[in-house]
Amino acid sequence: MDARLFNQKIETTYKQAAQLYKRTKVASPEQRAELLEQSLEELRITLEELHVAEEEILAQNQELAIAQNQIEIERQRYLDLFEFAPDGYIVTDATGKIREANRAAAKLLNVPQQFLVGKPLISYVPYDQRQVFRTQLQKMSQMQQMQEWELTICPRHAVAFDAAVTVSSMYNASGIPMGWRWLIRDITARKQAEATIRTIQLQNLQLQEAAKLRAHFLAIMSHELRSPLNAIVGFSQLLLRQTQSALPHNQENMVSRILSSGRHLLVLIEDILDFSKVEAGKLTLKLEPLNVVDLVIATTEEMHCLAEQKHLELQRSFAIQSSIITNDSVRLRQILLNLLSNAIKFTEVGKVEVRVWELGSDRIAIAVEDTGIGIAPEDLQSIFQPFRQGNQTLTRQHGGTGLGLAITDSLVKMMGGKISVESQLGEGTTFYVELPRQVGQQ
Ligand code: ADP
Repeated sequence: MDARLFNQKIETTYKQAAQLYKRTKVASPEQRAELLEQSLEELRITLEELHVAEEEILAQNQELAIAQNQIEIERQRYLDLFEFAPDGYIVTDATGKIREANRAAAKLLNVPQQFLVGKPLISYVPYDQRQVFRTQLQKMSQMQQMQEWELTICPRHAVAFDAAVTVSSMYNASGIPMGWRWLIRDITARKQAEATIRTIQLQNLQLQEAAKLRAHFLAIMSHELRSPLNAIVGFSQLLLRQTQSALPHNQENMVSRILSSGRHLLVLIEDILDFSKVEAGKLTLKLEPLNVVDLVIATTEEMHCLAEQKHLELQRSFAIQSSIITNDSVRLRQILLNLLSNAIKFTEVGKVEVRVWELGSDRIAIAVEDTGIGIAPEDLQSIFQPFRQGNQTLTRQHGGTGLGLAITDSLVKMMGGKISVESQLGEGTTFYVELPRQVGQQ
């Protein structure tokens, strides 16, 4: 029952009482008694109805109080959400004056919340951006949808910052614009990160360009150096052969040194040339079926003399059923030679051993093991990087470019394999090369 019905009932009771009064005035004494009885009965019924209605109203009042309480809790919840949101929330009227602002907004604008109310939001936009700001708002009022844009915000007595602003318009029940809701987020960190990424991308491009130029330069230089060196090596060889025992001993000695230095330089230049080719992605594999056992035997034979000079044992062992693989014989030989010459170079006593075995049906492994000086743990990480050399004093003593392992690593990768190293300082080093049996062109 609502209050209106309740009032109606009371009114009806009043009317009934008035009628009774009128009728009793003109009635005889017997009629009066009867009327009184009737009226008392009606009054009793009406009072009962009123009582019921009163109880209903009381119950409704209770429900209403509960609902109001619920609404208050919800209101407080939304207020807290607005108030404690991490981003700045601002409500302005249609002219852009601030009506409400949460804590984050006050913090962003560096103004206490209560002093923000009534201030035009545009006063926190730099002068040179205000025209754009107005135009943007103008546009938005016609579009009736949420808009996002970036602008600079100038807080009071603080440094300006980049902000991402999301704006939506508010309308009253008749569809008339009432104001704007603003979400303001400080994006300084994001902007800085973007700027850093741009700088890194630029530097990356410059580095790539520099790497290309370097590779190109190295290729040209190595080529230019190789031709005269070939002449030096060739002619000194010829001179030695032609003038055998005709030259005085010290001159023959000099020519021999020209020849060996020339050969050494040629090896270095070959390394540089190979490396620049790998870097420039210009190195291709000439794949063919080959016998890996034969190749290992031939390569170790080539190194035999060097090992013998240092009184090192050069051993090899094979645990392979089918020794035919598909690979580039020149490049595989180059890998083996690099590893073997290092092993001999860095070993003074003991032995160097090459082992070949099968890894399942489609891969093979080659290990080159020595009992030499070993590699320090801190050098192991960077050993395959170009121009990296371990112990500098020893390296100077042994020569080398620091390119051999970088080239070996690139070649193994081109073949679809992988290379790894295990070493103990003073105990020796083992390089493991794992390769597919059938190398495909990468
Ligand atoms: P290079 O031998 O021309 O200096 P490499 O790339 O072949 O260049 O080798 C890089 C460095 O790795 C060498 O200078 C050396 O310090 C270390 N190294 C390579 N192989 C061995 C090995 N078997 N034993 C000890 N050190 C090695």
